[in-house]
Amino acid sequence: MDFQLNVSFGVLALTAVINVLVASMAWQRREATLARTYFSLMMVAATFYAAVAAMEAGSVAIADKIFWSTLEYVGTGGIIVFFLLFAEAFAYERSRFRPNQLVQLSLWPLFNIILVATNGWHHWVWTAVVPALPPSNSAIYEHGPGYFWILTCIYLYGLRSFQLLAHAIFRGGPLRRRQALFLLLGALFPYVSGALYSLRITPDGLNLTPMSFMATGLFFFWALFRMGAFDAVPIAREMLIEHLRDGVIVVDSQHRIVDINARGRSLTNLKGGCLGRSLHLALADFPELLENYDQGLETPFGLWLNSQPLLYVTVQISPLNDYQGQIHGRLLILHDITKRYQAEVELRQANDRLQHQLEEIKFLQASLKVQAREDQLTGLFNRHYLNEILPKTLQEAEQAGYPVVFIMFDIDYFKHINDTFGHRVGDLVLKSFSQILLQQMEANDISFRLGGEEFLVVFPGLALNAGWQRAEGIRRAFETSAVPWSGDEVKTTVSGGVAIFPDQGISDDDLLHAADLALYEAKKTGRNRIICSGSLHR
Ligand code: GH3
Ligand code: MG
Ligand code: MG
Repeated sequence: MDFQLNVSFGVLALTAVINVLVASMAWQRREATLARTYFSLMMVAATFYAAVAAMEAGSVAIADKIFWSTLEYVGTGGIIVFFLLFAEAFAYERSRFRPNQLVQLSLWPLFNIILVATNGWHHWVWTAVVPALPPSNSAIYEHGPGYFWILTCIYLYGLRSFQLLAHAIFRGGPLRRRQALFLLLGALFPYVSGALYSLRITPDGLNLTPMSFMATGLFFFWALFRMGAFDAVPIAREMLIEHLRDGVIVVDSQHRIVDINARGRSLTNLKGGCLGRSLHLALADFPELLENYDQGLETPFGLWLNSQPLLYVTVQISPLNDYQGQIHGRLLILHDITKRYQAEVELRQANDRLQHQLEEIKFLQASLKVQAREDQLTGLFNRHYLNEILPKTLQEAEQAGYPVVFIMFDIDYFKHINDTFGHRVGDLVLKSFSQILLQQMEANDISFRLGGEEFLVVFPGLALNAGWQRAEGIRRAFETSAVPWSGDEVKTTVSGGVAIFPDQGISDDDLLHAADLALYEAKKTGRNRIICSGSLHR
C-alpha cells in the first residue's frame, strides 16, 4: 500500500491524539454521569474519525482512499448519535441509559454506512472519485443524491443536539449556561466545515471537517477542565439555588462574585456578567451591605435596597469554611421582607394612633371630671361637688372630733350691678369675689359657688370665732376691692352667715340652713356684715 506522510496526515493524526486524550480525561472524571459517558464515547468516535481521515489523507491509491472514506462514515455515525445522546443527558440531567433509544438513533447512521459501503454498486453517494492534480495526492469525490441524503441526516441530528444545548443555555444556572455555550461552540466547528466542503466553498478535495475536530477537542477540553462540565456541583442543586426566592451570592476569598442566582441578580440589579467581578465594585450602590461584609458581620441585618419599587431585605453573610475551618469565601443571602416590614410599620402606626387616642380619652375623662366638679365662671367647686364632699368632710370631723365652720356669702345689691352695668360686669364682680376667696383659702379649706351670687366656704378644724374672723377678712377684702370698668370702678359688698358643726347641726343640710338663716339676718340688719348663727339665739 502506497503511503505519503503529508501535512493533512500530520494535522489529522494530531487531531486524533487530542481527541483521544479528551476522551480518556472525560472518562476519568470523578462523577460518572451518563452525560460524561456519552461524551467520552463521542470523543472516541471523533478519534476514530480523525484517525481514518488521516489514513485517507496519507494513502495514495484511489481504492485505499475509498476504503478509508467509507470508514469515516462509521466515525461520523458514532459522533452524531453520541452527541445527541450526550446533549440530551446534559440538558435534562438524564441518568438512565435507554437501549431502545440508542437502537432507534443508530438506525439511520447504520443505513448510511451500508449505503456508502455499497457505493461501488449503485454510485449514489459518490458518482465518481478522481485523483486531484499532482503534486496533491488527494481525491475529488463527486457527490450523488445519496451523499446529500446522508448530509441531511447528519445535520438533522446535529440540529436536535444544538437545540438541547441551547435549552441548557437558556434554562441553566450561570455556570451550566457557560458550560453549555462552550460545548455548543466547540461542536459548531465540524458542522461549519462540513457545510463549507459540501457547498464546495473550500478548494477541491479539501475537507476540513475531520481537522476541525482539533478545535472541537480543545474547546471541549476547556469546558471539562476549566469549567468542570462534569464535576461541578450537581445540577439539581444548582437549579434549586437558581430558583430560590431568596437572593444568593457566593463570593470567593478574593471577594469576587463566583455565583449569583436569578433573585440575587434582580434584587441587586446585577447582570449575569458580574461573575468574577469584585463584590465591592459590583455592589458599590449598597455601602451599608459592604460595610457589614468588610466587618465580617454574621448576624442578619435589615437593609433598604434603593431599587424600584423600594425593597426591604434582611441580609445574612456566612463564611464558607472547609473541614479545617479555613474560610474559602462567603455566602450572602438576601431575603425580601418588604411586605412583612410594611405590615409591621402599619401595625406600629396603628398602635401609636390608638395609644394617642387612648391618652386623649384619658385627658378628656380627667377634664370632664374636673368640669363636673368645677363652676365654669369662677373656677370654684360647684354645688354638685358640694353634695359629694360635704358628707365626707363631716364624717371625718366627727371621727376626729374637730369642728367645721360653714360660711354662706351673698353679694349685696348684685341685681343692681347687673341692671346698671350689664351682665358681663356682673360676671366680673363674681370672678373678683372668687379670686378673693381663693387667695384666702388655706390647706384644707374648700370654697363653692352655690349658684348666682351665693357662695359657701368650709373651714374644717376651725373654731367659730376663728371662722368668723376669716369671714370678716374676706368681707373686708371684698369691700375694699373694685372692678374697673370703662374708666370707672364698680364696687359692692358682701354679707355672710356663719354656722358651725356640730353645734348648729350635724348634717350638711342643717348646717347650710343654719348658715343661710344667719346670712338672711345679715341682709336684714343692713348688709356688708357677717353674722354667726349661734349668736342669733343669744
Ligand atoms: P341682695 O342684696 O338682697 O342680695 O340683693 P341682690 O340684688 O344681690 O339679690 P337678688 O337675689 O335679687 O339678685 C340676684 C341676681 O343675680 C339675679 C340674677 O339675675 C343674677 N345672677 C344670677 N346668676 C348670675 C350670673 O351668673 N351672672 C350675673 N351677671 N348675674 C347673675
Ligand atoms: Mg342672692
Ligand atoms: Mg345678693
